Amino acid sequence: VKYILVCGGVISGIGKGVIASSTGLTLKAAGLKVTAIKIDPYMNIDAGTMAPTEHGEVYVLNDGGETDLDLGNYERYLDVSLNKDNNVTTGKVYQHVIDRERKGDYLGKTVQIIPHLTNAIQDWVERVSKISVDGTGEEPDVCIIELGGTVGDIESMPFVEAMRQFQFRVGHENFALIYVSLIPVVGGEQKTKPTQAGVRDLRGLGLLPDLIACRCTDTLLTATMEKVSMFCHVSPKQVLGVHNVSSTYHVPLLLQQQGMLDYLRKRLNLGEVVINDKHK
Ligand code: ADP
Repeated sequence: VKYILVCGGVISGIGKGVIASSTGLTLKAAGLKVTAIKIDPYMNIDAGTMAPTEHGEVYVLNDGGETDLDLGNYERYLDVSLNKDNNVTTGKVYQHVIDRERKGDYLGKTVQIIPHLTNAIQDWVERVSKISVDGTGEEPDVCIIELGGTVGDIESMPFVEAMRQFQFRVGHENFALIYVSLIPVVGGEQKTKPTQAGVRDLRGLGLLPDLIACRCTDTLLTATMEKVSMFCHVSPKQVLGVHNVSSTYHVPLLLQQQGMLDYLRKRLNLGEVVINDKHK
């Protein structure tokens, strides 16, 4: 399984979910089997007890799992049926680790965030990513992992650290990262500074952006993209502009037009996956 982590900075609610789903859809359209995991860094075990006025509607999965709205996006975009374990929350992983501690699984060791919680997160992601979600019974080729919140929050730190370790567990050619950022327009000017600061934070935590998806109300100017490339230390083809569109179902096309599939194909050796599948 190849992993694509979608995380974001600056502010939440800028379209990480839509970009995660759209990335999955683009890969599915290329013939790959795609699954998705949503990480929600809150203490609730699931979204079932959360006020819809605060958090949006609870999305109920076929297995009864009460989850975040994004799981609904994944199911619709990817035409899959997910399980409750495809939604990881801080509450769920803590509960899992604490249950194991009570059973004596840690053999008297001091149970810590690193390595015990971070290992539990990695094991969880690895296990769930291999579950077939399209009814074929076959292991997915790609797993999109969306990390909710913004990178740098205390809440998401154990997950960021787990993902930092995870890139080494699965290997460079099996792990890519899409960083979703906001380009605010101030006085008619597209501002890249929040993105520069966000990417610096991300790199400081040991995660490197492969693609930077810039959310902006207007179409991103070439000059803005060049600036993001220059100051965030990525090549221009790694910068994607995602402006406001009338329907979020246009976002996959926007990503496609900017060569996202080609980039990911090379970065993750996806050509091989497709070719191997044909020989099965
Ligand atoms: P996040 O996952 O970062 O919280 P979402 O993906 O849930 O953000 O998107 C937040 C809101 O913004 C949603 O209502 C979504 O429909 C809208 N949105 C996202 N991307 C776009 C876009 N490119 N154009 C217009 N609206 C968008």
